[in-house]
Amino acid sequence: MNVRRGVVACALALAVWMSGAVAQDGKPQYGEWGYDSAGADKATKPGDDFFRFANGAWIDKTQIPPDKPAYSLRVAMTDLTDQRLHEMMEAAAATTDHEPKTLAAKVGAFYKSFMDESRTEKLGVAAIAPQLDAVRRAKDRDELAALMGRTNADFESALFNIGTDIDLKDPKKYAVYMFQGGLGLPDRDYYLKADFAHQKTAYEAYATKLLGLSGWKNPEAAAKDVVAFETRIAEASWTKTEQRDLGRIYNPKSIGELAAFAPGFAWAGYLKQAGLGDLQRVIVAENTAFPKIAAIYAQTPVETLKAWQAMHIADNAAYYLSTPFADAYFEMHNKTLSGQQAQAVRWKRGVHAVSGGDYGVGDRADTFGNLGWGVGQLYAAKYFPPQSKAKIDELVVNLKAAYHARIEKLDWMSAPTKAEALKKLETYTIKVGYPDHQRDYSQVAVRDDDLIGNVTRAAAADWGFFVARLNGPVDRSDWSMTPQTNDAYNGSLRDIVFPAGILQAPIFDANADPAINYGAVGGVIGHELTHGFDDEGRKIDADGALRDWWTADDAKAFEVRAKVLGEQYSTFEPIPGVHVNGNLTMGENIADLGGLTLALDAYHASLHGKPAPVIDGYSGDQRVFLGWAQAWRGKVTDDFVKRQVVSDPHSPRQFRVNGPARNLDAWYDAFGVKAGEKLFVAPADRVRIW
Ligand SMILES: [Zn+2]
Repeated sequence: MNVRRGVVACALALAVWMSGAVAQDGKPQYGEWGYDSAGADKATKPGDDFFRFANGAWIDKTQIPPDKPAYSLRVAMTDLTDQRLHEMMEAAAATTDHEPKTLAAKVGAFYKSFMDESRTEKLGVAAIAPQLDAVRRAKDRDELAALMGRTNADFESALFNIGTDIDLKDPKKYAVYMFQGGLGLPDRDYYLKADFAHQKTAYEAYATKLLGLSGWKNPEAAAKDVVAFETRIAEASWTKTEQRDLGRIYNPKSIGELAAFAPGFAWAGYLKQAGLGDLQRVIVAENTAFPKIAAIYAQTPVETLKAWQAMHIADNAAYYLSTPFADAYFEMHNKTLSGQQAQAVRWKRGVHAVSGGDYGVGDRADTFGNLGWGVGQLYAAKYFPPQSKAKIDELVVNLKAAYHARIEKLDWMSAPTKAEALKKLETYTIKVGYPDHQRDYSQVAVRDDDLIGNVTRAAAADWGFFVARLNGPVDRSDWSMTPQTNDAYNGSLRDIVFPAGILQAPIFDANADPAINYGAVGGVIGHELTHGFDDEGRKIDADGALRDWWTADDAKAFEVRAKVLGEQYSTFEPIPGVHVNGNLTMGENIADLGGLTLALDAYHASLHGKPAPVIDGYSGDQRVFLGWAQAWRGKVTDDFVKRQVVSDPHSPRQFRVNGPARNLDAWYDAFGVKAGEKLFVAPADRVRIW
């Protein structure tokens, strides 16, 4: 199963696992006014390490739970959501039928099928026998290519992943996009760089284990071949930084052109199996990688390709299989790659299987769950207060106004570009809580005793939804994140989406001091908003089309500023010897800087000329900065950080706080930061973009 991702979506992104305290009515969840000052470290100067000043006591006393690779206030939010979903699913499972009809009963039956451990243990590898048999029976490369076409609807993996999104040059229509695939490790670096030798060795042992459990002959030799094959694909693959360039990933081709461009792969059979037999045109993303990967495929022995697919079927299904599979899966994905020490209890894994959330599967269900949109309907109806929506709407109005004013005043952007930017800003829609239109699950058959069947039927129905609407009009009310998700994003529909799951303390607390909310959720809204206008956003115009609306001089002026910011971030060292990649994280760092800038402006505007109150000795501006810093309060394992710096376009959390703060004059004024302190940047060297 692959990840069907949006092309231009940028999520705030955080790995999330989930039990936390619930606020009492009228009182904020953290501290007396929304900030937990007991978690601060007053012994650290803000100018030396603002993240630690705001969060140090909490960091020192908090232990990362063994079943998580990280812990943070954001994780506590997810814990609370999980607890609620757990109660909901237990109740639904207690009353569901064998083959239920209502949405709640289907959610209950799916969860029940996951919790039926004895059935899963008894089945063992037999649960995926049909998929493995199909691989064994395949006679040649063409049949194997066709099996890859099932990647979005079953457990198979593919060398070329396939997804749908709006057509970036004709945004009133949908298009099919294809991406490089084939790798089981998180990034090409894991195959090619000595730093990851340990993980690569562990991956080969994991492949051996899965192939052995799947009854493959000579599993050790086969695993070696599989890893060597993936290493060649890694060499041909684009880097994460290259993939960020929207101008380079829009390469439309007819199917005939694709076959001529990347020969050696049975494209027609592959597309037919994907339900796209009539497809005329596809947009190829990492285009120069395609002929190379197709050639590698054509040169690789069929036996290796079969072992590769068998291993990936087992890997994609392992989360739902008996203990030997599930434990091997945990050791590889959660422990070795993320530093998580103990496996989550079964009910949590069950909740995630149905609802979604990042449990390391890296597939469609990882993000959306198997019935994620249905769970979201039930969750939002029960837990999302309408007052939250009204408050967020007000914040958004102030943030947009602040951005409007900022763009008008920019000294580096030309007048025509400003006009385009302001036009685009007006077209943005903000979506809060849950979608207006709900996904229909009435045709998805769920049985309380068929976990693997439930997963594949849900996957097939989900992919079928996207294929069925390909020729229809673009639905601008669409969402790409489920309501229970603890995240936010800026999407290809020129929308900024805040699911119910992220609108909890400390990101948003209806009972907190407004400055805290401006710093936290205001900063996040600002972050997402600026993405529409940065080095990537500049390539999408007010109609949503891929068109660079900047002049060359604007681009140059922006790049000069961005380069200085990138150089600052490249000096950051989360653990000794491990540096932040200033280029990979560039867009996110600029968005953090912009987000915090807009949050401050919007807070000032919300005061309507009155001075900000002083609370507990903290000024209004200080509280905005503390709100932002508290939103990132958390700690992670070293393995988690190592994985993050190569594969995640977001900087580690401490730099999401210190990085933007040190470039804002208001931070120096608010906390009296002076030359000689570690974060100090001379006024002339501070980066001002928005
Ligand atoms: Zn972002």
